[in-house]
Parts: sequence; structure tokens; C-alpha cells
Amino acid sequence: MTVYKAPLNDYKFLFHEIFDVVEVCNRLGYENLDREMIDMMTEEWSQFVIDVWKPSNSDGDKIGSQLKNGEVISPPGFKDAWKQTVESGWLQSVCKEEHGGMELPLFFRNAMDEPAISCNMAISVVAALSLGVYDIISSHASQENIDLYAAKIGSGEWCGTMCLTEPHCGTDLGLIKTKATPQEDGSFTITGTKIFITAGDHDLSDNIVHMVLAKLPGAPEGSKGISLFLVPKFLSEGDELSSEKNNTSISGIEDKMGLHGSPTCVLNFDSSKGWLVGEENTGMALMFEMMNRERLATGMMGLGLGEIAYQNALAWSLERRQGRDLRGMKDLDAPADNILVHPDVRRMLLKAKVNCEGTRALGTWIGILLDEMKRGDEETKKHATSLIALLTPVMKAYSTDVGCQSASLAIQTMGGAGYCSEYGVEQFYRDARIAPIWEGTNGIQALDLVGRKVTQNFGHNLRHLMWPLLEFIEENRAIEEMVEFNKPLHKSVKGLQQLTLLLMAEGAGNPHFLAAGATDYCTYFGNTLLAYLWARMARVCINAKANGSATEFHEAKLASARVFFAEIHPDNVGLAAKIVAGHKHLMSYPEASF
Ligand SMILES: Cc1cc2nc3c(=O)[nH]c(=O)nc-3n(C[C@H](O)[C@H](O)[C@H](O)COP(=O)(O)OP(=O)(O)OC[C@H]3O[C@@H](n4cnc5c(N)ncnc54)[C@H](O)[C@@H]3O)c2cc1C
Repeated sequence: MTVYKAPLNDYKFLFHEIFDVVEVCNRLGYENLDREMIDMMTEEWSQFVIDVWKPSNSDGDKIGSQLKNGEVISPPGFKDAWKQTVESGWLQSVCKEEHGGMELPLFFRNAMDEPAISCNMAISVVAALSLGVYDIISSHASQENIDLYAAKIGSGEWCGTMCLTEPHCGTDLGLIKTKATPQEDGSFTITGTKIFITAGDHDLSDNIVHMVLAKLPGAPEGSKGISLFLVPKFLSEGDELSSEKNNTSISGIEDKMGLHGSPTCVLNFDSSKGWLVGEENTGMALMFEMMNRERLATGMMGLGLGEIAYQNALAWSLERRQGRDLRGMKDLDAPADNILVHPDVRRMLLKAKVNCEGTRALGTWIGILLDEMKRGDEETKKHATSLIALLTPVMKAYSTDVGCQSASLAIQTMGGAGYCSEYGVEQFYRDARIAPIWEGTNGIQALDLVGRKVTQNFGHNLRHLMWPLLEFIEENRAIEEMVEFNKPLHKSVKGLQQLTLLLMAEGAGNPHFLAAGATDYCTYFGNTLLAYLWARMARVCINAKANGSATEFHEAKLASARVFFAEIHPDNVGLAAKIVAGHKHLMSYPEASF
């Protein structure tokens, strides 16, 4: 049995000492939320997923979802966990009031993802997809479909999916072949095959509502001619579900590396009845709205799985005894010291820990920006929208890359036990490995960042990021205790500006130069954002020390900041060198010699 404790103290620190979420709530019209309420909800939700979701996580992996007679059967424990989730009202709490919810802030919804993923990623993706479908339906579907579907999907009573990928296209969705044919009653028939559809079928809910990308007759070529359709598994008359399926069928579920509890389905639509969501040919824009939210949730997957992997590796390291401290025996009564005495073991554990703490800070900041984008005044909205455009691909790619790295470090820390399924940690690595691939691969996120988001709005997005960073650097320049954090931060910010200019200048004439540097640029970008957040966290701890309010937690956070700047941030030097090296060594490599 794996161990897990929700990082509640870290969330308290981020919510109240770094970002002041109570002020955010008051400013944005969530006045009924005070500090006690926010902390209580964070604690209660975390305990809920520990008690209700975590117990079935290992069976989810070992037994997995199974296809029997064309129906997907969930692993033992999943149905009951989902039933309790629906009954608890937790999912619905983030929905609009008219759909039975409390419209809780998005920063809270984002934070809720972390313990949920740590405890059972396979169930958490059903929740994330259903809430994503709720968002799209409640904002863009016809009133009739909002009335029929929104509250049921928001509560989890019915579930949702997103159906983009087809056998011949994943990244390049302009190639999709699924067809939509208009009917006289205003509905459409949908025909085509979608593959890799997460939770495309299961027995957790009575109905599943698919959001399907398809092409109308005569639609423009490529991604400009794609529309979005709502296609339920079962049609319904009021609350009464039809006993016949809406011509949907599952012809297989994938056998895959991890995430066995989550069925990845081949889903066929054979003249299934559906309804247009939004305007014709705006499907990609609407799906991107959903995907941007899912991309942030995917970023949280790296964090959730990295965190639980780290916690288990730490528990192992405290027990496992091998060798002696190089500076002399630590535990004279034992035949060997625990492995935490070894610098290399500490390096691995601390890197994983600091990866998690840093991406948690980034996720929290992004959550607040989402609320500001939704409810802020004009100026705030503009600022938040620019930052979200930049930070979404970075959060998705950086956080999932370091999440996999953390889970891999946790395995390495545990030696052979890390690799063996009895100890549970290898599952976290296998589960985490999908996150850099789905929702647009990390390579595509990097191209989106450097090829679109940085240049969008005549470079305004980047300027919106540079203002707070440069202001912070200036404010802290004269504070002696901040030099060790502020100086490397300043170096990276200057480097980011120079690398951006280089990529834009060289990339304008040669797109291969831009594309070859994209992934390293995205990582450099992520390291720089984290340098800023770590410097901010360090500043709060230094202040607490100065005014005598520092606790053990602040000392530890300051120590984590030092680990970041010594172990992770220096990677920017190598990343910059690789970006500057350009594309020639890649593109001139003879194809026949690959
Ligand atoms: C477990 C699982 C669950 C999934 N769930 C869903 C789901 O619920 N709904 C859904 O619709 N899809 C889902 N997917 C599909 C997933 O989103 C795609 O696999 C992913 O977007 C990549 O597409 P692909 O597999 O076709 O890879 P490809 O598009 O074939 O890409 C292969 C490689 O080429 C690179 N590449 C492709 N094009 C470019 C380019 N223009 N420039 C640079 N590099 C490029 C990619 O980065 C990648 O490294 C799921 C996949 C898996 C494995």
C-alpha cells in the first residue's frame, strides 16, 4: 500500500502568504469565501479522495478496465467511488448556481486536481473531462441542450468525453473525416471513427455525452471547416433515457503502458444523432477552449503523480539501510545508515520535491489568473488573458516533463524496489508518461509557445510577463539576503529576452531554426518562471525571519529555493547554448543514416 498525505501546508502557504487568495476572492466577487472556508474545503476534498478514490488505484492498474460484449467494465471499486463522488456534490460545487453549484473559484478547482490525481488519476480524468464538457455545454450549447445536459454532467451523474483523434490524425486535426449531415429537425447525424477516446465508454454513469469534432458537407478544407457536436450515448426524453444506444459502439480498448484503470476506446458513430454546439465551422476554437482547461489539468497531472511518487520514495529512504555516511557512521546501533545520508539520494529526492513545490506554485498562480480572466475589471482581464496565453503551453509541457522526471527519480531512489510493482511507485511513472503526449504533445506546446503565443498581440503577451518580473527584480535588488535568488533570476530574464529576439529574428527567415529550438526554449521559459516564483517564495520566508514569525516550514521553503537555484535553474545555461546552436546539425543529418 502506498503512502500519501495531501500537501495542505504548502497550499496554505501559497494561498495566503504568496498569492493572498482571500483578497482575490473579495475583489472578484467570491465574497463568501474566507480563509477558514478555503482551508477547510481544501482539507475536506483531499481527505475525500484519500478515503474514497485512493483505495481502488492499485486495482485500477493491476486489473484495469475491460471490454466485455461491447461494454466497458470498470475496475473493482471505481463504480462505488464515482457514486460517492456524485452524491458528495464535490464536482457540482464548481458549476454555476443555476446548475446546482456554488461556482467555486478556478484557483480552487485547479488545486483540487492535485490530490485527486495523486490518489487515482484514472478516476480524476473522468472528472476533468466531465467538467470540461460541462463548461462547453453550459456556455455554448442551445438552451434546450443546456437544460437537458448541463446539471447532469456538472454533477457527474452523466459523464463527458472529448472526441478529436482519428486513426489517421492526432496532431493534424485538419485531416479529420468524421461527417455530420444536417437533418430536418435541426439535429445532425454523425458518422465516423474516433480512436484513443478516454473514458469513451464505462459503467460509472448511465449516460455519456461525447463532444465530437466533425465536418459538415461543403465545409472549408482543413481545420477551418471543423464543427463541434454533442452526441449522447443514449438519447433521452426528459429524464428518461432511451433503452437503445444512439448508434455508438466500442470496437476496442487499448492495451497501454499505464493508466490501465482508464479505458482508451475506439469509438464508432454510425449515423448517431447529435446537435451542433456553437456556430458551424467554429469547432476547433471551441475545442481549444476546452483543451486549454484540460491542458492546465494535464499540467497538474505531472505534479500530482510526481508528488505521490516522491512521498513514497522518501518513506522508503527513511527505512532503507545501505552503507554509511561518508563523514562517519550516523546510526551506531544499526548495521548501516539509512540511504538519506548519501548526497546522491538527497539530490534525487530534493530535485523531485522541489519540482513539485515549484510547479504547485505555478499551478496556483495560473488558477488565480483564470479567475482574473473571467471576473476581473477590463485591465485585469487583459493582463490575465495575455499571461494565460503564454503560461498554458508552459504549464502543460514543463510540469508534465518534470512530473515524469520526479516519478523516475523516485524509482531510482528506491533502487530495485522502485522498479517492482509490489511497492507501487512504478505505477506512478507509467501513469504519468501519458501526460507529455495527450492534449497536444509537449513538442506541439513548445511550438505553440514560440511560434504563436510569444508573438501574438505584437509581443504584448511577453511584455505582460516582463513587467511583474522586472519590477520584482528591481524591488529586491538592494536586499542583501535576496542576492542569491535575485541575481540568477535577473540573468535568466535577460537571457529569455535575448533568446526570444534571436528566435524571432532567425526564425523569420528560417522556420527550422525556430522549431529546432522550441522545446529547449519552452523549458528555459519554465525554469525562468519558476525562478521568479521561487524568488518570491524566498522573499516571503526572509521577511518572516526578519519579523520573527518564521516557522520550520519557512526554513524548509528557503532551503527548497536554494535547491532550485543550485540544482535545476543552472540547466538554463545549457538550454541557451542548445537554442543558439540552431537547426543545421539536425536538418543536415543525412536521412539515409538515421
Ligand atoms: C491514453 C491516451 C488517451 C487519449 N485520450 C484522448 C481523448 O480523450 N480524446 C482524443 O481526441 N484524443 C485522445 N488521445 C490522443 C492524443 O491526444 C494524441 O495521441 C496526441 O495528440 C498525439 O497525436 P498522435 O498520437 O496522432 O501523434 P502524431 O500526431 O502522429 O505525432 C507523432 C510525433 O510527431 C510530432 N509531430 C506531429 N506533428 C508535428 C508538427 N507539426 N511539428 C512538430 N512535431 C510534430 C509529435 O509531437 C509527436 O512527437 C489519447 C491518447 C492516448 C495515448
